Amino acid sequence: NLSERLERSFKVLKGQGQITEINVAETMKDVRKALLEADVNFKVAKDFCNRVKAEAMGQNVINSVEPRQLMVKIVHDELAKFMGGEQAPFNVDGNPAVILMSGLQGSGKTTFSGKLANRLKEGKKKKPLLAACDVYRPAAIEQLKTVGQAIGVPVYSEPESKDPVAIALHAIDEAKKTGCDVVIVDTAGRLAVDEEMMKEIKNIKDAIKPNETLFVVDSMTGQDAVNTAKAFNDRLDFDGVVLTKLDGDTRGGAAVSIRAVVNKPIKFVGTGEKMGEIDAFNPNGMADRILGMGDIVSFVDRMQQQYDENEAKKIEKKIRENKFDFNDFRNQINQIKKMGNLKSLASMIPGVGKAIKDIDINDDAFKGIEAIIDSMTPYEREHPEIMNGSRRKRIAAGSGTRIDEVNRLLKQFDQTRKMMHAVTTKNPMKMMRGMRR
Ligand code: GDP
Ligand code: MG
Repeated sequence: NLSERLERSFKVLKGQGQITEINVAETMKDVRKALLEADVNFKVAKDFCNRVKAEAMGQNVINSVEPRQLMVKIVHDELAKFMGGEQAPFNVDGNPAVILMSGLQGSGKTTFSGKLANRLKEGKKKKPLLAACDVYRPAAIEQLKTVGQAIGVPVYSEPESKDPVAIALHAIDEAKKTGCDVVIVDTAGRLAVDEEMMKEIKNIKDAIKPNETLFVVDSMTGQDAVNTAKAFNDRLDFDGVVLTKLDGDTRGGAAVSIRAVVNKPIKFVGTGEKMGEIDAFNPNGMADRILGMGDIVSFVDRMQQQYDENEAKKIEKKIRENKFDFNDFRNQINQIKKMGNLKSLASMIPGVGKAIKDIDINDDAFKGIEAIIDSMTPYEREHPEIMNGSRRKRIAAGSGTRIDEVNRLLKQFDQTRKMMHAVTTKNPMKMMRGMRR
């Protein structure tokens, strides 16, 4: 799979300081493939990759991540940004607020109407009313009533009527009378886009002037989802997209394609048939899902957040000049500790994680070391070479350790210089070996 392929290529190519044509060409090929496998439209995937690549070119790579890893992170972040970045607002102001559902038959409109009503009722303390405007299928009213009953939300219907516009308007009147502050209008779909349906939903929209018109689409329909979204948007100019059935195998590429083609935010996702299975759309999570490279992304993310590049440069210089001392050592331990659980960090390093899975690196590993360093005088910390027998004895007593532990640390200090050297030459395998006691 993709991660394995990436791991393999990391082994081949190491330690280049910048993102260049050569060192990312392979990665971008893999990224494009991942997008296509996730059912992102071909042209959308191609355009996206080219744009991101152009932007990333020449960017400096921080210590301890590879250009390719950084590239994956950049693609991920751009993908999230592309799908909307922050969460899109959802407007339920007004008395009553009106939400209109649109979409093909079977896309999940009725189910989602119930989920949304439930969410507004539970989370926002709203009083929703469901309006049954699917006048074609005899079972449609019953289905909505069942949903309403399950979540304790009233349903407005007119079983004899064939006029969805009138039903919707009457439902709004009913809401005003009964003190409901949100009307969710469930409509009829068709199996495919057709003119009659479009006219009908457009008429409803014009009559009820909803706060939000949502387009509901089955994420499993892949490429078709894009064409459907375009057809609906051309006629309805909807406000947002609901992506349903994300609980299945689909990687959710439709989110990217739809965004690219209609430029409307995805507001909610449906992840099951149950009423609770609704989520606000999360662009970051979706980017993870589409790329399928979450491990690399979070690794780079943590490295970028925790690794102070200036500090690293200073340390590098000190190592080169052989001035790396116990103060630096102490700082480095803090850096490493900041990165969080060492084992989980290590397991995220591509190509290395599996190899060191069984080796125990525990977070307390530094406790004794810190006590010993803290028992040194400032002069000793800056001049590790002066550590004679009597000093070692004093430090052992002061730190509550034994002299052989102090000796071991001094030896370890030496090893750490080597570890730091490995870090500066960007070899994670050596770095991890250096961390072991
Ligand atoms: P409508 O014709 O657009 O009103 O679609 P429905 O709400 O009747 O849903 C059609 C089918 O899809 C039903 O069997 C639902 O239970 C199912 N469904 C709806 N949303 C989801 C979802 O998010 N996940 C899954 N697995 N099934 C869903
Ligand atoms: Mg329905």
